[in-house]
Amino acid sequence: MTHVRTALIVGGGVAGPVTAIALQKAGIEPVIYEARSTAPTTGAFLTLGSNGIDALRVLGADTAALAAGFPTPRIVLRSGTGKRLGETRTGLTPPDGTTSHTLTRADLYRALHEQAEARGVRVEFDRRMVAAEETSDGVRVKFADGSEAFGDLLVGCDGVHSTTRRIIDPDAPAPTYAGLLNAGGYVRGARMDAEPGSYEMIFGKRAFFGHVVAPGGDVWWFANLPRRDEPARSELEAISEGQLRRQLAAAFADDEGPALRLIDATSEITPLTAVHTLPRLPRWHTDRIVVLGDAAHAPSPSSGQGASLSIEDAIVLAKCLRDAPTPREALASFEAVRRPRAEAIIKWAARVNNAKAAGPVGRVIRDAMTPLFLSLTANSKSHQQTYNFHIDWDTVAVGASSPSLKSAGSDGP
Ligand SMILES: Cc1cc2nc3c(=O)[nH]c(=O)nc-3n(C[C@H](O)[C@H](O)[C@H](O)COP(=O)(O)OP(=O)(O)OC[C@H]3O[C@@H](n4cnc5c(N)ncnc54)[C@H](O)[C@@H]3O)c2cc1C
Repeated sequence: MTHVRTALIVGGGVAGPVTAIALQKAGIEPVIYEARSTAPTTGAFLTLGSNGIDALRVLGADTAALAAGFPTPRIVLRSGTGKRLGETRTGLTPPDGTTSHTLTRADLYRALHEQAEARGVRVEFDRRMVAAEETSDGVRVKFADGSEAFGDLLVGCDGVHSTTRRIIDPDAPAPTYAGLLNAGGYVRGARMDAEPGSYEMIFGKRAFFGHVVAPGGDVWWFANLPRRDEPARSELEAISEGQLRRQLAAAFADDEGPALRLIDATSEITPLTAVHTLPRLPRWHTDRIVVLGDAAHAPSPSSGQGASLSIEDAIVLAKCLRDAPTPREALASFEAVRRPRAEAIIKWAARVNNAKAAGPVGRVIRDAMTPLFLSLTANSKSHQQTYNFHIDWDTVAVGASSPSLKSAGSDGP
């Protein structure tokens, strides 16, 4: 045990509450500090992979998240001409039959916060961390309102635009624009003749469109629009809903499929946002400060793995803190175990992202290669390693710099 008794967790998105639950299980008292004033109630949806569900189950925290979503085991890929390119799965099936689930980001945040609060975890909203410094025996954190907090450890769960990352390394790379803009929406009672839970993804002539029918008949959709240069946030914010509708209509005008109809039937479209990923981060930690989740390794959303990786990180970090002799060794062990897995998934997701943003020549090659790519992907070793990942809470953490901790465990990449 590292003698870490208290942890300051900055960020209450996906990783924050799960880290709190996992650290508490390891005997550490956590407090979550979240910059927003409340949890979000609107916005986009995401897919929780079978590996993310399995990881939540290690903490006994999976039920609420599953209840808030619906199973989405399959993806059918099509070209803009309507040609079926192939089919793959969004995850494997864990032993109890649970498959990957889709749910709104707001519902996932809510479900995870409820789990943390039910275990007595303190969550403070309206607390934006602006600075932190290590002392001889802990970390002092400063917030935008002038207040401070002190703990044995600081865990940065503050997302892709992390402040903690720059505290660890002022030269840390900034997130880079992934060449795609994202928008989405929900169509109530759409009455589509499609199998609930089966995603249809269309590599259109100009943009990418994904949709899925929820069990009640609503359709959930998202669109990725390629754009080479990154628009300023002010430019995106200035786009009116009417302008966005016209932009989406133009993007999908020449494609087969339901995109135009669904966009038209959507009462409120989520505003366009630029998709960011994080270049390789040289340092994940100091002696007592560490980043995890998107703050350490944000894959393209095309991976469908960002949330699941964040949840896995939280549990592995707790195990390392439980098993290593010092905080520094625990954090080194954590990075050694998690970096190879995160980087392998990021590499794969970047390939999918490039396929979405392909130009005319790239599109022809992509359409020709997709069936082969899919048949390899669904059965490939890397697909198995991504979705079939299990963390055993009871084994000793792997990869610790302490020689006694190097060989045991099963949480490797
Ligand atoms: C369009 C889109 C689609 C996606 N689809 C999927 C998907 O299908 N499947 C999937 O697994 N992942 C998906 N992702 C990625 C997923 O949302 C992220 O990987 C996941 O949310 C990461 O969790 P996190 O806790 O690290 O960061 P976040 O969920 O972003 O949480 C970070 C939190 O930190 C807070 N914060 C930030 N700075 C501070 C500060 N200084 N002080 C205090 N609090 C702070 C923020 O307010 C936020 O609440 C998608 C992402 C996008 C953008």
